[in-house]
Amino acid sequence: MTWAIIQKSAAERAAATLTDEVREAFTWETARAMLDGFPDGALNIAHEAVDRHVASGHGADEAILWLGKDGERESLSYGDLATRTARFANVLKSHGLQAGDRVFGLAGRVPDLYVAALGTLKAGMIFSPLFSAFGPEPLRTRLEIGEADALITTASIYRRKIAAWRDEIPSLKLVLIIGDEAPEDCVALGPAMAAASERFETVRTRPEDPALFHFTSGTTGRPKGAVHVHDAVVMHAAAGRYALELTPGTRYWCSADPGWVTGTSFGIISPLVNRVRMVIDEADFDLERWYGLLEREKIEVWYTAPTAIRMMMRAGKEAAASHDFSQLRFMASVGEPLNPEAVVWGNEVFGRPFHDNWWQTETGGIMIANTRAMDVHPGSMGRPLPGIEAGIVARVDDGLRECPPGEIGELALRPGWPSMMRAYLHEEARYKKCFVDGWYLSGDLAMRDREGYFWFVGRADDLIKSSGHLIGPFEVESALIEHPAVAEAAVIGLPDETAGEVVKAYVALNPGFEPSEDLERDIRGLARKKLGAAVAPREVVFRKTLPKTRSGKIMRRLLKARELGLPEGDISTLESDET
Ligand code: ATP
Ligand code: MG
Repeated sequence: MTWAIIQKSAAERAAATLTDEVREAFTWETARAMLDGFPDGALNIAHEAVDRHVASGHGADEAILWLGKDGERESLSYGDLATRTARFANVLKSHGLQAGDRVFGLAGRVPDLYVAALGTLKAGMIFSPLFSAFGPEPLRTRLEIGEADALITTASIYRRKIAAWRDEIPSLKLVLIIGDEAPEDCVALGPAMAAASERFETVRTRPEDPALFHFTSGTTGRPKGAVHVHDAVVMHAAAGRYALELTPGTRYWCSADPGWVTGTSFGIISPLVNRVRMVIDEADFDLERWYGLLEREKIEVWYTAPTAIRMMMRAGKEAAASHDFSQLRFMASVGEPLNPEAVVWGNEVFGRPFHDNWWQTETGGIMIANTRAMDVHPGSMGRPLPGIEAGIVARVDDGLRECPPGEIGELALRPGWPSMMRAYLHEEARYKKCFVDGWYLSGDLAMRDREGYFWFVGRADDLIKSSGHLIGPFEVESALIEHPAVAEAAVIGLPDETAGEVVKAYVALNPGFEPSEDLERDIRGLARKKLGAAVAPREVVFRKTLPKTRSGKIMRRLLKARELGLPEGDISTLESDET
């Protein structure tokens, strides 16, 4: 299936931050020059994201516009952030915490959480974000794996999910509760902040000092705790500028929750390092709220995810028609494959396409992207950012070989960029297995075309082999959602005596459509026409929703395990799941 290329005008290309000349001239040294640094090579993310802007005369500029669930608004300048994060760092110190200690964040998208993340880094401590919607078990496992010294959360979350076993985590010395009151053996953040000094000398961390622990989404199995260092900020600065078009003063909205890596790297650090004016929305997805926010707050750059885009598509173009999105200049998507239909839909509704980009918790920052100056090939993830060498490789007996254009293989990266993980917590063997022959293996399958664009095929575990064909679930799912009734699709392979494997699909329907045998036949018919009989699903099952992780990724392995009567494995990050 090929879709028309969306070409960029000469004016659009010229307006891009990553022109061909900039791409050519790029070195990691030029990226470093976007930052301040401290004497003797010390580097601290919080300084780069906050304090240096105050020092250069931008203390009064708006850093964050926070939109509360119930319509509250709070504006924080870079100066406000500087003093609040200093106070937070002092609170941590006053409770005996030291540089290198681990502070976990567990709250909804409220300003104190953002202050805590940056204040922790300022104090030279390690910040680790958790999803506030996680249940007690996933929280406990992560606090244990990360050997948490401190936790910042809310009274309600603490009572419901933590209090019962808090004493069983011996490392946990301090629990800070957002607000003015706290349960016994916790500390209320409000009074502690008020009593703390607003002067704090940012700890002179080394570039290789750990800064962040990020747990992976758990899509393919037990989540891993990736360790990131302060040097990652070099990537955050460059990727924000070049892949997301973040420039000083840009009105920016990243709809990802800081509970996962996108919401931290590109929902806190990268935008602030690039001195934007960012919006934080406390509420979850709501169609009218989102359209209203984009329009009213005059969002210029918007970073979101395929799952949200598909929800918008589900509501139809008409729902967007009454809004004015003319101020939007760049939209990007990450987290899952972005179906070509969604790219084209975005182009029609917003007047510009969604720019897909690819990266992982492990890579710490965007690796492959459709940038503003590039023509968009719907369905493609784009090309590697400058400084990033990506390849397609296949395993051979004594190592790896590189695949030529057009051949499917594993997506691999040459290690050496600043935001690469430095370890998986307590899992050295699993970490080491990621590196072969000088490549980092991503676990994703992809293809590169002659123009250097990369195309996602599927997770290595999800590839289907049927009658001699290699079938990527993404291709089949994209064909299925072209059917007007289909909102979302997940495809797996099931063992079959003659074909080896056959394709089975699960779909969620758009409003106004009801499951029926006729509809099933019709959807299969369309898939056969687009993909051919060998690749099209044999069976299509209707579901209310597809099983997804908290970060919005479809968990195909769960559908498959159930189908085969196998154990479900780690489902600590499972969010929605209605049959
Ligand atoms: P786990 O590693 O625990 O199984 P996960 O891989 O889903 O979970 P993340 O690091 O949050 O955890 O997600 C990275 C993965 O998301 C990538 O390896 C890829 O499979 C998928 N992904 C991210 N962006 C894209 C994209 N633009 N197109 C296709 N897939 C993407
Ligand atoms: Mg992964």
